[in-house]
Amino acid sequence: MRSPLTSSGAASVPDLSELYRDCTLCPRMCHADRYVHPGICGCGPEIRAARAALHFWEEPCISGESGSGAVFFSGCTLKCCYCQNYPISQGEVGKVLSPDRLGEIFLELQDKGAGNIDLITATQFLPSILPVLDRVRPKLHIPIIYNCGGYEKMETLRMLEGYVDVYLPDLKYFSSHRAKKYSGAPDYFRHASKAVGEMIRQTGKPVFDKNGLLVRGTLIRHMVLPGQREESTRLLGWMAENLPKDSFLLSLLSQYTPFFKASEHPEINRRLTSYEYGKVLEVALELGLDAGYMQERSSAREEYTPPFDLEGL
Ligand code: SF4
Repeated sequence: MRSPLTSSGAASVPDLSELYRDCTLCPRMCHADRYVHPGICGCGPEIRAARAALHFWEEPCISGESGSGAVFFSGCTLKCCYCQNYPISQGEVGKVLSPDRLGEIFLELQDKGAGNIDLITATQFLPSILPVLDRVRPKLHIPIIYNCGGYEKMETLRMLEGYVDVYLPDLKYFSSHRAKKYSGAPDYFRHASKAVGEMIRQTGKPVFDKNGLLVRGTLIRHMVLPGQREESTRLLGWMAENLPKDSFLLSLLSQYTPFFKASEHPEINRRLTSYEYGKVLEVALELGLDAGYMQERSSAREEYTPPFDLEGL
């Protein structure tokens, strides 16, 4: 594994906390003074998380045999009506963590045998997380994974260069209409399309260790939504045309379950059918997007949502 971090000690740890005063970390650019009130993501300046534990439900190259060291951060810059993690992303669940405690958590996950540190929805806390990574770097010897919804700003991603070994972004929508309707983010594709390009630039082609774990690279997830095959087809076409095929892995997800407020949209208030998923998979294969993972239709179940019970915090 390439060493991800460059800091040589606490003296070089940057103070990024001023970024919370006029926050423009994500494409919302809401300019919240998070010391006074939360931004659109629901977050103030303190790190909040809902779970830190070994996690076995990512792709095989992420979870491996021993599990990923998943830290589920609270809040989110997207507002997906079907979010499976809604109690933490758009609810109140979470515990405030000091930066020192977060560093301990990373090391505890490593001690438990985690194959990596899986930062789940961390964008809104990066000014706090990056200095923590700097501090624990001498003791942390597993890859850092940045697991996000794909709705990222280029400037913020550049802050991550040298810290992140593996990017795990979603690529959710092609059309602004659906991005607005289902996630409240009409500019989703404009930002996410640039973001995945930047992630691939930073990581280069996928690299696996001897156990098949991804230690460097970008794995793009696309979850097929019910009744939205055309949307998936357009996204896959864009990937095939614009991203070098051997530069990333694709994970085509069938696990959609109508959580949270999905019932407000009757057309997505159901599970995906095997036929719908199979048709999208055919498109991916026809386009040559065959490096990655497909899911068994039977994997659409709630086991993918762990209990947000503050374990490990
Ligand atoms: S991270 Fe949160 S506070 Fe910052 S710009 Fe995005 S939504 Fe606003």
